[in-house]
Amino acid sequence: MKLLRIFLLFFCLLAVYAAEAADTSEYARQRQGMVDEIAADARRLVRHIDKDSVSDHVMQVMGTVPRHLFVPAEQRRYAYENRPLPIGYGQTISQPYIVALMTDLLQPRPDHKVLEIGTGSGYQAAVLSGLVDQVYSIEIISELGQRSTQTLKELGYDNVTTRVADGYDGWPEQAPFDSIIVTAGISHIPPPLIRQLKNGGTMVIPVGTRFQTQQLTLVNKDHTGAISTRQIIPVIFVPFTGGH
Ligand code: SAH
Repeated sequence: MKLLRIFLLFFCLLAVYAAEAADTSEYARQRQGMVDEIAADARRLVRHIDKDSVSDHVMQVMGTVPRHLFVPAEQRRYAYENRPLPIGYGQTISQPYIVALMTDLLQPRPDHKVLEIGTGSGYQAAVLSGLVDQVYSIEIISELGQRSTQTLKELGYDNVTTRVADGYDGWPEQAPFDSIIVTAGISHIPPPLIRQLKNGGTMVIPVGTRFQTQQLTLVNKDHTGAISTRQIIPVIFVPFTGGH
């Protein structure tokens, strides 16, 4: 009788393990589908981004980050569709292609220190985590900030440091940054962020009117500190909020 119980327990555990493994490989299959779609989008948008692909390294990392663990449970089955998804509090996790494009525009390098404004789900920070030395990310909604901090910690993204604050002022204690990524739409480029960008650094930011299409803008600060900007493609991001 006792032996039977032990056997039953063993089989139950085996079944749970097999179900989890099947689940993981199903998500991995879907994730590869997402990466293929990003590649197709990049080829389609070649005239905007001056190249027909997102760098291999960025694509490789996009193929490993478990996007399904950054979205609420009820959105999980859509996690690898190439579109934004709601993450609560009126906010969204960006479309994977846009995450890949913005990441690529930052030209991430293993020795880089990057600032993100708008942690949201933590997904963009996780993607950057695999490409640079240190990621600092600021979120204004404390519930989202706490949730993404927890997710990033549980998944072992140890080089991401988060804070709940208004990102308009950047993170002066950690400045300067090799690059800055802003994931909420704003009417102008915040001067504190320009100041906190290193000479030779890059910023990617959606600039435009609230609730309308913005222009994904690439900002370069050259070695003399002079600023130049280039509009990449029209995008729609949630609004940059706070006191500015
Ligand atoms: N990068 C996120 C996308 C989140 S959407 C991801 O990968 O999921 C943009 C986020 O910017 C929202 O969570 C919003 O609350 C946040 N945000 C808006 N204004 C902000 C501000 N002034 N400072 C910091 N975060 C802000």
